[in-house]
Amino acid sequence: MVIIFSSLRYVDASETIIVAIWVQGEVALPLSVTSASMKLEVGQPLTMQVEIIGAESLGVRGLCCVVTTRDRKVVIDPGVALGFRRHGLMPHPVQVIASERTRGLIAKALQGATDVVISHYHGDHHPPVDANPYQLSVKIVAELCQSCKFWTKGTEDLSYNQVRRAKALANSLGRILPIAEGMSEGPLSFSSPVPHGERGGRGGNVMMTRVEDSGDVFVHASDIQMLNDAAIRQIIAWQPNIVLASGPPIYLPSLTLEERKAALRRTLQLAKKVDILILDHHLMRSKKGEQWLNYVSSLTAHKVVCGADFMGLRRNLLEAERVLWYKRLPVPEGWHRAYARGEVDLLSDWSDKVERIKIR
Ligand SMILES: [Zn+2]
Repeated sequence: MVIIFSSLRYVDASETIIVAIWVQGEVALPLSVTSASMKLEVGQPLTMQVEIIGAESLGVRGLCCVVTTRDRKVVIDPGVALGFRRHGLMPHPVQVIASERTRGLIAKALQGATDVVISHYHGDHHPPVDANPYQLSVKIVAELCQSCKFWTKGTEDLSYNQVRRAKALANSLGRILPIAEGMSEGPLSFSSPVPHGERGGRGGNVMMTRVEDSGDVFVHASDIQMLNDAAIRQIIAWQPNIVLASGPPIYLPSLTLEERKAALRRTLQLAKKVDILILDHHLMRSKKGEQWLNYVSSLTAHKVVCGADFMGLRRNLLEAERVLWYKRLPVPEGWHRAYARGEVDLLSDWSDKVERIKIR
């Protein structure tokens, strides 16, 4: 079976760009596409397209992707966030630019989406009703998703805050959000709850998604962080070709040596069973996490990559570089308050700097 997944770059509506096509982990002949319509100009036997839109290696917090099959366009985890305060610093404007860009990409992806999946109710995975200035607003999702089907995590095993967010989201969308756990419909299947990281940890549980089309299988494993065996067992049982998951939170000092070793064991176990394992999100919040990814990749014939690698884009670990960016480009006092009030024209104020920075 030949698996062909495309890696798309979003550009201005009229622009035609070259993309790389992944054939069993290798870059094959380039293909020309027009991103605005997502229409392939050259008829290729693409059965499924996977695009990663938001992740730490792409400059923001999240794990949002779009999976396009012959008859479905599935947006998984339409959310984006920036660490509100890290190392005593609010997000750098460079990060805010990346956040605005990602929010635009998610909005674009939601146009014409048939299905929207929400793996759990953390603000980087869904549009919160009380979104801060760096998150995706629920109004955009409500406007664009009037006819899409929603597939959402149940709330029985979630924290008070996640339950509150789920109810608020349902109210804002004006619909009941159906519990998808354990269900299958057409190309989609959803897991029973699996731990958000460690079993019994504070994050509660998440729901994983499987998409199958013409024998090709993609799994979005959300925030499992390679920290529990239950999720890995389920993913392997699903027999995927490509998996997108949060990697271990190497940036956390609380992650013990034992937990790191176990995460490595699970990663190698999973990498053996798939063509491409994409690890991002918690893993890519630090340069040490990136080094861990490079190390694992060297052990696995480069089957283990981050979201940016998969998309054929430059890695852009802005969260890991926040302090550095403040040193490079100091931020005026009061800038964040002005941005929150809508008084900042981000691109024109920072255009010369943006030019030099070249986000993504
Ligand atoms: Zn997350």
